[in-house]
Amino acid sequence: MKKVVKFGGSSLASAEQFKKVGEIIRADEGRRYVIPSAPGKRFNEDIKVTDMLYQCYALAQEGKNFDKELMAIKTRYDEIISGLELNLSLDEEFEIIKRNFHELAGSDYAASRGEYLNGIVMANYLGYEFIDAADYIFFHDDGTYNPVKTEEILGIKLDETERAVIPGFYGSYDDGRVKTFSRGGSDVTGSIVAAAAKVDMYENWTDVSGFLIADPRIIHNPKTIKSITYKELRELAYMGATVLHEDAIFPVRKEGIPINIKNTNKPEDEGTMIVESTCRSSEYTITGIAGKKGFVSINIEKDMMNSEIGFGRKVLEAFEKHGISFEHMPSGIDTMTIFVHQPEFEGKEQQVLADIHRLAHPDSIDIESDLALIAVVGRGMKAAKGTAGRIFSALAHARINVKMIDQGSSELNIIIGVKNCDFEGAIKSIYDIFVETQL
Ligand code: ASP
Repeated sequence: MKKVVKFGGSSLASAEQFKKVGEIIRADEGRRYVIPSAPGKRFNEDIKVTDMLYQCYALAQEGKNFDKELMAIKTRYDEIISGLELNLSLDEEFEIIKRNFHELAGSDYAASRGEYLNGIVMANYLGYEFIDAADYIFFHDDGTYNPVKTEEILGIKLDETERAVIPGFYGSYDDGRVKTFSRGGSDVTGSIVAAAAKVDMYENWTDVSGFLIADPRIIHNPKTIKSITYKELRELAYMGATVLHEDAIFPVRKEGIPINIKNTNKPEDEGTMIVESTCRSSEYTITGIAGKKGFVSINIEKDMMNSEIGFGRKVLEAFEKHGISFEHMPSGIDTMTIFVHQPEFEGKEQQVLADIHRLAHPDSIDIESDLALIAVVGRGMKAAKGTAGRIFSALAHARINVKMIDQGSSELNIIIGVKNCDFEGAIKSIYDIFVETQL
C-alpha cells in the first residue's frame, strides 16, 4: 500500500519527536513520500519556527538587524541535527537565507524556509531524496493554486522517485518566486502529493488521535470519531472544528484517496478515517457536534411575503451591498431570518436596516444579538427516527431555549440557534443524550 505521510509541527519540534517520526516511517514500507511541517512548539509558551521567521523577516523589512533572531532559528535546527547525530551543516543555507532577507525576498519566502530546512534535515535523517516544493508545486499569478501544471510536473517526478521528502506549505509562481498556502498549509501539500502520486492513503500525523465528537474544552474527554465522510467534515469544519486545513480535502477527494488522521505520540491509536462514503455506520446517531458564538439574527416580517417574487433577493442585496455574508437563512411563510456574524454586522447595522426598508419594504424588522449556532452532524441521522425530538428533549431538560432550528435537505445536519450563554450547556446536553447515555 503506497502512502503519503504528513507530519505536523509538534511532531517535528525536537530530536525526540523526529525519532518517533523515523520509527513510524520505518515501520511501514508503504510510507514513501514524507511531507514535513516546520518545527512547532516544544512546550506551551514556545514559538513555532514559522512565527520566528515572520518576526525575523519583519525586522529585515524595517531595515533593522536580525542576526540574533536568525541565529535563534538556526539553533532550533542545530539542536535537532545534533540530537539525531546527523552529519549535516545548515551554515551555507543560513548564509543564503540571510542574503535573501537583506534583499527582501518576500515574507512568503521567509516563512517557507521553516519547511524547506526541516525537509533537508528529514531527508538526511531518513536517507530519502529531497524534493524542493518550489520546483514542483505551482501557483497562478493571482496567488491561487495551479493544479494543472502541478499535477503534470509533480506526477512525472514522483513516478520516477521511489522515496522522497517534499517540504509542506509552499510552492512557486511561474517566475520562481516562492509562494505559501495559508497557515497550516502543509496539510494541503500532503493532499496534493498524495493525489499526484496516486497513493492508496494519505496519513496526516498530528498530536491528537483524530477528530473528536465535540470540543474538548467543553466536553471532558470526548470520544474520537472513527470514520467521517468528506461532507460531514466540511459541515463540522465550517462550524469551527479544526484539525485539518480546509483546502486539504479537495485534491485527495478528487482521486478517491482516504485521509487517516493519526497521533505521532500514540501511533497505535486508530485515529480518524476521512472517506468519500462508507457503509460503516457511525457508532452513534451523530458523527460530531460543533458550533460558534457571536451571531445576530435579523428577523424580517411582511404580510404575504410568500407570494412576493424577489423579496428574498432584495433583502440579501442589502447585506451584499455592505459586504456582509450571511451564515443561515431559515424562513417561514411571512418571515425570514438572516444570521450574520455580530462583529461583521455591528458597525454597519443602521445602514443595512435602512437598505432593507428601502429595497424590500417589510412590515417589521426585529434584531436579536449574542446568539450561537450549533451544528449536529451525522450521516446516520437520515436513517434514524426522532433525532430532532431527542435534541429538543435534551435541550428542554437542560432548560435551554431554542431560538432557531434548521435541518438541511440532505438530512446530514441540524443547525440549532441558542443564546451565547447557553452554548456550552446545549453542546453538553446533546453530547450526553447521543453519546453518553444514548437514550
Ligand atoms: N508551518 C506553517 C504554519 O505554521 C504551515 C504548517 O505547519 O502547515 O502555518
